[in-house]
Amino acid sequence: MDYDSIVKLLRVKPEKKVDLDDFDPDWGGIDELADAPEEEELRDRARAFMEKNRADLAEAQELLWADDRRSVLVILQAMDAAGKDGTIKHVMSGVNPTGCGVVSFKAPSAEELDHTFLWRAMKALPERGKIVIFNRSYYEDVLVVRVHPELLQKAKLPEGKRGKGFWRERFEDINNLERHLVRNGTVVLKFFLNVSKAEQKKRFLERLSDPEKHWKFSHADLAERAHWDDYREAFEEMLEHTSTEHAPWFVIPADRKWVMRTLVAGVLTRTIRDLGLEYPRLSDEERARLDDARRTLAAE
Ligand code: ATP
Ligand code: MG
Repeated sequence: MDYDSIVKLLRVKPEKKVDLDDFDPDWGGIDELADAPEEEELRDRARAFMEKNRADLAEAQELLWADDRRSVLVILQAMDAAGKDGTIKHVMSGVNPTGCGVVSFKAPSAEELDHTFLWRAMKALPERGKIVIFNRSYYEDVLVVRVHPELLQKAKLPEGKRGKGFWRERFEDINNLERHLVRNGTVVLKFFLNVSKAEQKKRFLERLSDPEKHWKFSHADLAERAHWDDYREAFEEMLEHTSTEHAPWFVIPADRKWVMRTLVAGVLTRTIRDLGLEYPRLSDEERARLDDARRTLAAE
């Protein structure tokens, strides 16, 4: 299977009902790797594949930076322990730090709650030439807040019903914001890192038994795990209503970390390349000025 077909497979079609059962969290269907006989060989190939991936992304980012007209917003959402941090580390490891940034969204502060739910994200959007990754985002406001609607009481919203219509309006607000961004030159890519409940359990247990991973365990994560089915439903609704032509969601299998990281970096690289950017070309006048400068320096 070639990369373009893989990307197509992962992309959530707009306005289609989403059933996460249709997306395999443990998917290894990459041709270059599938026929590898031994675990060790598989790892070697994965490593080579990721190296190549990294180099491709670095090249794409440089072009984005040089062109300076487009920007890229990458949004990561997932259940706990799906591997957001590791994915960010991988994606960022090969790129020029000047041209990228990461912003994490935690429970909103008092100041943030005094604004609409999109405000804090607006302030953090990428400027032209840059890639910004959102580690969580305004999508939390249709995920954690939907699973725990009591959080809405802190948001100081006007009175009103908090039924399905309320969440539809949030989806609409999000879609409008993203359309605005896309119209003005930002590429918006959204990744749902799809980890299975069994794999999450395994990773939590690792965090509990390995002293070097203790710091990663949070009791709150276990409490959220108890709401697994509610989160799943919230994710499905989110994917259905906010995967659009202009700002698609990709459901990334997350049970194998290298598959996940490779796919995210791959989709990102492809998307930047498909923008058809070019290094800025000089006008005749500018080129003449460069010739002048060269002569001046040579004559020193
Ligand atoms: P890690 O995966 O490394 O634990 P994290 O992204 O989970 O990182 P935490 O500080 O553990 O970071 O968690 C951030 C918390 O903030 C999450 O539980 C998330 O649901 C919560 N949060 C983010 N945005 C909102 C929001 N708008 N309203 C309420 N809670 C939010
Ligand atoms: Mg956490």
